[in-house]
Amino acid sequence: IEQSAYQNDKLAMLGKIAAAIAHEIRNPLTSIRGFIQLLRPHLLQLGKEEYARIILAEIDRANDIIYEFLNSSKPSAPMKQNVPINSLLREVILLCESEAHMKDCQIQFESYDEELNISIDVKQIKQVILNIVRNAMDAIEEMRGERAGLIDIVTMRDGAFAEITIRDNGRGMDHTTKTKLFEPFFTTKSAGTGLGLSVSYRIVRNHGGTIRLTSNSGEGTEFNIYLPLVE
Ligand code: ADP
Repeated sequence: IEQSAYQNDKLAMLGKIAAAIAHEIRNPLTSIRGFIQLLRPHLLQLGKEEYARIILAEIDRANDIIYEFLNSSKPSAPMKQNVPINSLLREVILLCESEAHMKDCQIQFESYDEELNISIDVKQIKQVILNIVRNAMDAIEEMRGERAGLIDIVTMRDGAFAEITIRDNGRGMDHTTKTKLFEPFFTTKSAGTGLGLSVSYRIVRNHGGTIRLTSNSGEGTEFNIYLPLVE
């Protein structure tokens, strides 16, 4: 599935606008957040604590959107560094461990090739892997414990590329989701931003790589990330 030039332009333009105004929006959001926290005990007395919870969650969502916009406005010039992909993946898996535990999923890692060196912007590629693993955890959580949650991460060489496979046995996707998930703002989650995958796709393309996807509704999803190897 190709992200069109139009989608890319749209994302880049939105990123620039967001970078310019994010600061102005963040300050009032922070003070709203503070005052709601102060009001919380009073709302509790009125039996309306739920309102505080919703307001806080929505403020956090707005902050997430701003944060992801800021990220998406940067990937134009990756700061490249040679790294072994497997150690980077092990770091990211460690970062996800507590969230995985909370969402009842097990993450397994296997590599068919220890010598996979890639030239990447470490922060950006970490973000891509995190986005995809977090989505996998969400997809597993949405199955509500119907089966044991499993995320398989596998690396191997594929010609001149390192292939990173991230497979989950979560809820999978329907046809509409599959055709839209790389579009900015497409989300099926009540608290989603719909930016994670569009930004990820752009980052990987900027590295000369690509992302492929296979998914079956009710069964699970597999993402394949390809990044050029350093020989
Ligand atoms: P967000 O996570 O904020 O919704 P993304 O761009 O990361 O934004 O994902 C877009 C949509 O793609 C999600 O809302 C979800 O419907 C779908 N999706 C992504 N990854 C998975 C997955 N592993 N399993 C099922 N659906 C997924």
